[in-house]
Amino acid sequence: MIEVTLLGTGSPIPDPQRAGPSTLARAGDQMFLIDCGRGVLQRLAGAGAGANQLSALLLTHLHSDHIVDLGDVIITRWVSSFTPDAPPLPIIGPPGTAQVVEAMLGAFGHDIGYRIAHHADLTGPPRVEVHEYTDAVVWDHGGVQVRVAPTDHRPVTPTIAFRIEHAGASVVVAGDTVPCPSLDALTAGAGALVHTVIRKDLIELLPQQRIRDICDYHSSVQEAAATATRAGVGILILTHYVPGIAAGTEDDWRELAAAVFDRQIELGDDLHRVEVHPGVCARSRS
Ligand SMILES: [Zn+2]
Ligand SMILES: [Zn+2]
Repeated sequence: MIEVTLLGTGSPIPDPQRAGPSTLARAGDQMFLIDCGRGVLQRLAGAGAGANQLSALLLTHLHSDHIVDLGDVIITRWVSSFTPDAPPLPIIGPPGTAQVVEAMLGAFGHDIGYRIAHHADLTGPPRVEVHEYTDAVVWDHGGVQVRVAPTDHRPVTPTIAFRIEHAGASVVVAGDTVPCPSLDALTAGAGALVHTVIRKDLIELLPQQRIRDICDYHSSVQEAAATATRAGVGILILTHYVPGIAAGTEDDWRELAAAVFDRQIELGDDLHRVEVHPGVCARSRS
């Protein structure tokens, strides 16, 4: 079984109820954080976990809303790991990730220096291990396999989706993308697809062209549902709602997806949790 928790279901626009984009996948005794948007560690605490327990951080792309709390993840893991020789944090992302991580460590250079000077048992800076991929098997440890494939979020490039497999269960986390053949191929036959979505019917009504611009590089609810249908997944899990789901309109979003995808549809608030079992059978809990 793989347990998916929507840690943050928001977008770049601050929302009092929704943290920025991030998803937690627990597979056996391993824990993967996918993206690290605003407030991620508060929500991770809400899910009963901490940065020092992460097996790896997976980044779908380098848009600010998906990486803005990267520094918090790295520094907090460092200061809250009390075992000597704590393993480095594997960070797996698209090309460009190493440069971002290095710059983030540079931005926290003063902080890192203060803490090393103050605590005798902190003898070196945070340890990270960055891997950049666009199309490969990127993880194969302890019965968990992770594969990445390119997505299409142009002009943001490169961008990737992740497929996590454990004991017959499988989950794809698509990130921000329009429908594309490489995502279809990665998702084929998966137990669940976690997909970011925007309501183009609502966004297109807004007066600001800069906001309307986002329609051309995101999937609508219907497009995400069509990807799920083509891939034959068991569960479609929607997240990264743009605009934020207004109170009482959750069923509207669900109906838009249900018109295109006739299996289990999950959406909800931060910390919504879905169990993905082998095959297409599944149970969900909020
Ligand atoms: Zn993006
Ligand atoms: Zn985004």
